[in-house]
Amino acid sequence: MIPSVLPTYSRAPLSFVKGEGSWLIEADGRRFLDMAGGIAVNVLGHAHPALVAALTQQAGQLWHTSNLYEIPQQKALADRLVEATFADTVFFTNSGTEACELAIKMARKYWFEKDQPERLKIIAFEGSFHGRSAAGIAAAGSEKMTRGFGPLVPGFVHLPFGDMEALADALDDSIAAVMLEPVQGEGGIRPLPDADLKAIRAACDEVGALLILDEIQCGMGRTGKLFAHEWAGITPDIMLVAKGIGGGFPLGALLATENAAAGMTAGTHGSTYGGNPLACAVGNVVMEVVATDDFLADVRRKAGTLRQKLEGLVASHPDVFEQVRGSGLMLGLKCVAPNMDVINAGYAAQVLTVPAADNVVRLLPALNITDDEMAEAVARLDTAATEITKGLK
Ligand code: PLP
Repeated sequence: MIPSVLPTYSRAPLSFVKGEGSWLIEADGRRFLDMAGGIAVNVLGHAHPALVAALTQQAGQLWHTSNLYEIPQQKALADRLVEATFADTVFFTNSGTEACELAIKMARKYWFEKDQPERLKIIAFEGSFHGRSAAGIAAAGSEKMTRGFGPLVPGFVHLPFGDMEALADALDDSIAAVMLEPVQGEGGIRPLPDADLKAIRAACDEVGALLILDEIQCGMGRTGKLFAHEWAGITPDIMLVAKGIGGGFPLGALLATENAAAGMTAGTHGSTYGGNPLACAVGNVVMEVVATDDFLADVRRKAGTLRQKLEGLVASHPDVFEQVRGSGLMLGLKCVAPNMDVINAGYAAQVLTVPAADNVVRLLPALNITDDEMAEAVARLDTAATEITKGLK
């Protein structure tokens, strides 16, 4: 019999009743060190007092009015994002997928308004992930996500991630936009070198194509800059944000330049809940905490510490791990052993991590994790790796 919850997830046999900072607690009191962070969502950990206060204060005042009316919390968050980034304007969504969907619409509308409606092709990259909507799976293009769901939304060209020669061949004035994650998340924590991102920006400029960056996983301070593209010193035309911006409350956003957004006039797009008062009350506080020089400098410092410890872990378990990769507190352990064995052994050692493609174990901790907690997480991963090695003998 089909379960009451549609069985599309392979869930771990764990269930948590409470969260405290970087810890998740089961009903029996067992405490797990959370290096999964809700898949890069809980940027300030669980039950952060300022987020709890913002949400409960707003909950007692007003939950929802719809986008029929002005929403002051939404305007405040849009102002903050515009102030902190390249963007001139913001559209709020409830999820990352919806932001990706709007980016695709916006790129098409941009060329439609320029009397080139046939200029609709978007270059995307193998190993990418842009959500599970019909256009999102077509954009990523992987067989795993698209099989059985055809016919797919047309207009996507797929190139190997980081293949700059293939990009040079494909990018001409028939291309509407190039869309990519500066650090691929689901694809196995694969950062694009800064030089390549710079070259992609220049190549887009040459033919007038829009650059769409999906920073849903790698943005909001995760790499030690507010957004990952800042490392390369370039700016996109459109950027997608979600996950961390709500700190656990569902919230996403599309940020764009005035030029890229020019076709999106009243009635061309909308959302019932997008940018509702509850979500934006939380988003404002997340931005207030994360988008500061001191906070981001501390993320960079902690990232260096964690990476060094993980290099040590990899060196002492060559039969389990092969490599550490990633950027900031978005780190991947490329495994020799099956990544799910490492993750399951981690559950036994009470540390939570996330699988990714290419046999990688992802670490996406809260950005305010402490040094002691990072040391404890690596110690628990060491226990997990030791158990796997014992099983191999
Ligand atoms: N884009 C990227 C890079 C992601 O990592 C994700 C989620 O994992 C999405 C898009 C989709 O976001 P959501 O699951 O919030 O719809």
